[in-house]
Amino acid sequence: MKLKYLGSGAAEGIPALFCNCFLCKKARALGGKNIRSRAQTLINDDLLLDFGPDTFWHVCRYNLDLSKIRTLLITHAHEDHYCPSEINYRAHGFAYLTGDRDGTDEGFPEMDIYISKGSYDYECALPTEERYLAEGKTPVRFHTVKAFEPFTAQGYAITPLAANHAPGFEALIYLISDGASTLLYAHDTGLFPEETYRYLEAHKPHIDFASLDCTGMASSHNTGGGRHMNLERGRITRARLTELGCADENTVWCMNHFSHNGKSTHEELEAIMAAEGFLVSYDGMETEI
Ligand SMILES: [Zn+2]
Ligand SMILES: [Zn+2]
Ligand SMILES: [Zn+2]
Repeated sequence: MKLKYLGSGAAEGIPALFCNCFLCKKARALGGKNIRSRAQTLINDDLLLDFGPDTFWHVCRYNLDLSKIRTLLITHAHEDHYCPSEINYRAHGFAYLTGDRDGTDEGFPEMDIYISKGSYDYECALPTEERYLAEGKTPVRFHTVKAFEPFTAQGYAITPLAANHAPGFEALIYLISDGASTLLYAHDTGLFPEETYRYLEAHKPHIDFASLDCTGMASSHNTGGGRHMNLERGRITRARLTELGCADENTVWCMNHFSHNGKSTHEELEAIMAAEGFLVSYDGMETEI
């Protein structure tokens, strides 16, 4: 399984739009891996995790062909992860999926969007799917999914787990397996809820690569209310998953979804995390799982 972090930042990105804190100033000056757009991740070239406000930038920066995306998994309806109005641009006229402006795109595969009911109901005050159906165009299909109810999509076995984040949105963590390897994608979340650990303990998946919320970086910022994590909580999560038998010495641990409140440049964070056995994601980072 190929994984590419398209964006590795939290809601406000780094440098944050209106921010003059020392880290944002430094990020503007240094550029490179210190620039963090909003979190979004590509698996192979056909599965996308989240659809946030930097999707257009990611398409331009990485030369992506989003018509290849058949499966879109939404973690939750916070704006840095889900901008449904942008999905409207898959409709005919905004997009010519077959490349033929005079064609109808008839028969071109839909993109399946998996989302919790809490997040769907919140955002779908806008009648995205209904509008497509009314116009006889069905370029997307929404599926509401629940924590602990696995499903398959385009050959991927996917298990949504409960996150500790935005309860009204029923935020989800995803386990994604292609049969050869398994990814745990935990954004956004605080320390995992006990029900998630109970499910993992009962099913014992082997996690090959774990992408953990690290909004607070190595500091205690952004972990208030328990809805995000940092280095300390990453350590706790790694220990717990290992103890349950879901992870071992072959599991790769990667921190992702960073806020400027964490106050570390990429280089500083990499030094801290390397000593702790964690990788640090950056925009454009690619890995084979
Ligand atoms: Zn977020
Ligand atoms: Zn800042
Ligand atoms: Zn969030």
